[in-house]
Amino acid sequence: MKVPFLDLKAQYELIKEEVNNGILNVLETNSYILGPQVEKFEKDFAAFCNTKYCIALNSGTSALHSALLAHGIGPEDEVITVPNSFISTTWAIDYCGAKPVFVDINDDTFLLDYNLIEPAISHKTKVIMPVHLYGQPADMDRINKIARLNDLIVIEDAAQAHGAFYKNRKIGGLGNTTCFSFYPGKNLGAYGEGGAVVTDDLKIYEYILALRNHAQSRRYQHEFLGFNYRMDGIQGAILNVKLKYLKDWTLSRNRIAELYIKNLKNIKQIKLPYIDKSIVSAFHLYVIHTSKRDTLFNYLKEAGIDCGLHYPVPIHLQKAYSYLGHKVGDFPNTEKNASNCLSLPIYPEISDQMVDYVCKSIKIFFE
Ligand SMILES: *Cc1c(COP(=O)(O)O)cnc(C)c1O
Repeated sequence: MKVPFLDLKAQYELIKEEVNNGILNVLETNSYILGPQVEKFEKDFAAFCNTKYCIALNSGTSALHSALLAHGIGPEDEVITVPNSFISTTWAIDYCGAKPVFVDINDDTFLLDYNLIEPAISHKTKVIMPVHLYGQPADMDRINKIARLNDLIVIEDAAQAHGAFYKNRKIGGLGNTTCFSFYPGKNLGAYGEGGAVVTDDLKIYEYILALRNHAQSRRYQHEFLGFNYRMDGIQGAILNVKLKYLKDWTLSRNRIAELYIKNLKNIKQIKLPYIDKSIVSAFHLYVIHTSKRDTLFNYLKEAGIDCGLHYPVPIHLQKAYSYLGHKVGDFPNTEKNASNCLSLPIYPEISDQMVDYVCKSIKIFFE
């Protein structure tokens, strides 16, 4: 049996007519950049996140960059975040000329360890940037409390966590500003690049609204350093179709996760994702941990099962970040995750037979 890591074609087949009609609508109304489809998406995605405002952008990376700039982050500032994430989280900090300051992850949740935040705060710290990695929300109450006590801003990287819940509250309005990606493989994916910022803060909203469009107040009047970070109309139309299904897709991902738990929980050699009772994960990824990671990865590949690694090289050990002067051993939980993590296929369209086959193959490997 072949089990792909992701099957976007299968998803397209289910929504083909609606998507095609949406794209045609953009072509026929000449609304290639921004336009009514994007505006509808902004309104609906803000409502989905329970926030007042949403600004649609052209990637998750530009969402993170815009959010930091809107909160006034620049050279001399420090931003606390994790080294266990996709590289964009820290690129955005460097784009502002600011410095990423890493804290390690918790060994069970694989999310930012809130106990390590306060020791990392200096007089230059301006922002805490938690990443809701794999779809699992970070402990926002604790993070917000530390931010309040130390006069810091919280910008969430929710690129993997559309529709996740933290204590019955939807991810979106929990920090000051929240950033999403609509890269095709994300839980809510465009058919090209896409991203968004959501916030309840009118000033942040207005700033990013201008920033993404060359900081124009009127045509050819530019008020500050702007960017071309606009979402295009076709992506807006596609996201409008997909947003309607996101709730069901998240339920499906949770159901698949339950199947994995049921079938894998008795294998002693692997550690399953820790799931706090107070959260509902968006299960962007289902990541197990084993010291036999590389041999298991290859074994499953031979069996026709594609897995992923998130992430095999921690950010603090990337060549691009050698300027920070970190070395092996600085963030042991992150480094352990890098060598032990294995992402199993999880997406709404995967069949129960496929999940069974993945679980059986893992069982046979350990026997
Ligand atoms: C995907 C992702 C991003 C970047 O989003 P793009 O749309 O690819 O620019 C940022 N952070 C995390 C955690 C991601 O998974």
